[in-house]
Amino acid sequence: MIRSYLLTPGPTPVPDVILSELGKPLIHHRTPQYRQIFREVSEGLKSVFQTRNDVLTLTSSGTGAMEAAVVAVANSQDEVIVIRGGKFGERWGEIAQVYGMKVIAIDVPWGEGVSPEQVQLALKQHPKTAAVFATLCETSTGVTHDIKAIAALTRQSQALLVVDAISGLGAEELRQDEWGVDVVVSGSQKGLMLPPGLSFVSVGERVWKRMEQTKTPRFYFDLLAYKKSLADDDVPYTPAIPLVIALRQALRLIQEEGMEKILQRHQKLAAATRAGAKGLGLELFSKTPCNVLTAVKIPQGVNGEKIVSYLRDEKGVTIAGGQAEMKGKIWRIAHLGAIAPLDILVAFSALELAFKKFGYPVKLGSGVAAAEEVFSC
Ligand SMILES: *Cc1c(COP(=O)(O)O)cnc(C)c1O
Repeated sequence: MIRSYLLTPGPTPVPDVILSELGKPLIHHRTPQYRQIFREVSEGLKSVFQTRNDVLTLTSSGTGAMEAAVVAVANSQDEVIVIRGGKFGERWGEIAQVYGMKVIAIDVPWGEGVSPEQVQLALKQHPKTAAVFATLCETSTGVTHDIKAIAALTRQSQALLVVDAISGLGAEELRQDEWGVDVVVSGSQKGLMLPPGLSFVSVGERVWKRMEQTKTPRFYFDLLAYKKSLADDDVPYTPAIPLVIALRQALRLIQEEGMEKILQRHQKLAAATRAGAKGLGLELFSKTPCNVLTAVKIPQGVNGEKIVSYLRDEKGVTIAGGQAEMKGKIWRIAHLGAIAPLDILVAFSALELAFKKFGYPVKLGSGVAAAEEVFSC
C-alpha cells in the first residue's frame, strides 16, 4: 500500500516526528538523562489530564491502568457501581468481579449514555458504595457519558469516581480537578498518538487516603509504589524507555497545538463525520455521540465486514467494525489523535467507492460533500 489511513479508535496514527524518536539508540533509565525526560513527561501529562494530581505512567496497555485503579479504590466484598452499556463499561465490572467486589451494574442500552438520575438512584440505594466506575467515551458504541454530572453526584457521597478516559483523553472535554473526578485512566495508543504500551493513572487526594484502607492484592499495579518512585522522577520497574521518550515528543506536539484547539479539532472532525455519514444515507448509532469516533449503522443488506476488509486491503483505509453484540451491525470511524479533515474526506471517498464496487446504492460524492460543508465553515 503506497499510502494508508488508520481511522480506528486505537491504535491511532503516529506522526513521523514521534515515530522517529522510537528508532534512537536506547539509554538507561536509572540515569539523570532519563529522569529529566520522565520529569518533563510527568509534568506535561498534567496539562492533558487537566489536573494538579500526580499522573503515574505504567508499562501496560490501558487495561492495566484500569486494574490498578480498581485495586486501589475498593476491597473485596465492597459494593461498586459500574456503568455498563458497552464493552469497556463491562470491563470495569469484570475486573471488579475478579477481585471479589460486589458489582452493582447500571445497564444502559448500547448506543445510549447513562442518565445521571440512574447513578443518583444507585448511590441512594447503595449508600456504602466504595466507587463508581464510568467511561468518558464508550469506544464500542461511540457514546459519551455525562461525567460532569456524575462527578457532581459522587462528590456528595463517600464513593470515589473512577473514569476510563482511555479513548476520550485529548478528544473529549474532561476537567478532572474542576469536576471532581478521583481517578482518570488512559493509554498511549489513542489520543496521545503513540504506539500501545503505556498507560496512565491520574490519582486524586481522596484516593491516596482510601488506599490506606484497601488491602486488595496488588504488586505490579500498586500505585503507591509508582507514587513513591515519582518523587525521584523514577518508576519502580523497567519502563518502556523508547515509548516514554516518544511521549515527550507527543506532549510537545500537544502543547504546540494547545488543548483547547485540540478539543475543537476533534469536535469539528466528529461533526463532519456525522454529516458525511448522513450525506451518504447512513444512520448514526449513538444517541449521545462522542468526539472520538462515529458509529454508524450498517444499512440493511450491506455486508459490513466485506467492506471493512476491502477498504483496508484494497484502499489502505482502516475503519473498525462492531464489537461483541454489535459485530456486523455498525462501523466505527475514528477521528482520534493525529487526524486531519482531509483524512475524513478520504474515508468517505473510500466508502463511496466501496459501495459502488459492490453494487450498493450510492451517489458518489454525497458523503464527501456533506463533510466538506462542515469543514468549510
Ligand atoms: C482502548 C480502550 C480500552 C482498552 O485499552 P487497552 O489498551 O486495549 O487495554 C479501554 N477502554 C476504552 C474506552 C478504550 O477505548
